[in-house]
Amino acid sequence: MRPFSTVDGPGIRTTVFFKGCNLRCAWCHNPETQSFDRELMLRPERCVGCGLCRRVCPNGLKSCDLCGACAEYCAARARSLCGEDTTAGEIFDRIEADRNFYDASGGGATFSGGECLLQPVFLEALLTLCKGAGISTAVDTAGNVGRDVIERIEPLTDLFLFDFKCFSDSLHLEGTGKGNVLIKDNLAFLAAKRPEKLTVRIPLIPGFNDSDAELGAMSRFLGELGVMDAEVLPCHTMGNEKYAALNRESPRFGSCSEERAEEVRKRYFQN
Ligand code: SF4
Ligand code: SF4
Repeated sequence: MRPFSTVDGPGIRTTVFFKGCNLRCAWCHNPETQSFDRELMLRPERCVGCGLCRRVCPNGLKSCDLCGACAEYCAARARSLCGEDTTAGEIFDRIEADRNFYDASGGGATFSGGECLLQPVFLEALLTLCKGAGISTAVDTAGNVGRDVIERIEPLTDLFLFDFKCFSDSLHLEGTGKGNVLIKDNLAFLAAKRPEKLTVRIPLIPGFNDSDAELGAMSRFLGELGVMDAEVLPCHTMGNEKYAALNRESPRFGSCSEERAEEVRKRYFQN
């Protein structure tokens, strides 16, 4: 969870990250949310050699069952467990604790990931609890799910933050492992149904979607759908250290400057 977030929708928000995604974006800066399973992240450069992890580990660090004991005792945060089994009630209690900040700032709760729409029952329970308590909700999605899920979640959601990575189906397949016919179809559905409660978020990725041809096609598509709010988010490499912590290779895409993002914003996505 990320409390006091100001980048996941309006106002001050608590963001809840669901683990598990059905895309594999080559520039992903939250690789710890891709797998549905728990994962242990290791940052040996932080280790101060206290030896507590070996003492508390039921396997003496010779093998790992992902119990989380070492992470709990590692004050240096050289070991951290990503993913927890929890309930909608527990998460809601943590969201509700900060409701004064939401009320004062026009904020609320944002459900993100990974892909939160891949756990629709849990998400629906959380949205229902928030709605019942008068807490505003946002769903941050890449949209690669069945229409039935979108239709089920939509009435409980105040704002959709919809990632739109590129227009070309083949380029999307190359960059994420999946085509985007379904995604564009879901985006069109939401744009028609609730244009005023939809923010399209475009990650600007050098060497992937930043050509004139691709940006122009995206801009035309959003214009045809009548999308009223589009944000351009410059790609960054701040998540790269997480790949090392997960013992995985870093992404092959570099970062994009705020100046370039502003230029693209003005040229292609300003209403
Ligand atoms: S508990 Fe953390 S700081 Fe201590 S030895 Fe283990 S990894 Fe290093
Ligand atoms: S998560 Fe549990 S089993 Fe795995 S290394 Fe840490 S203490 Fe040992």
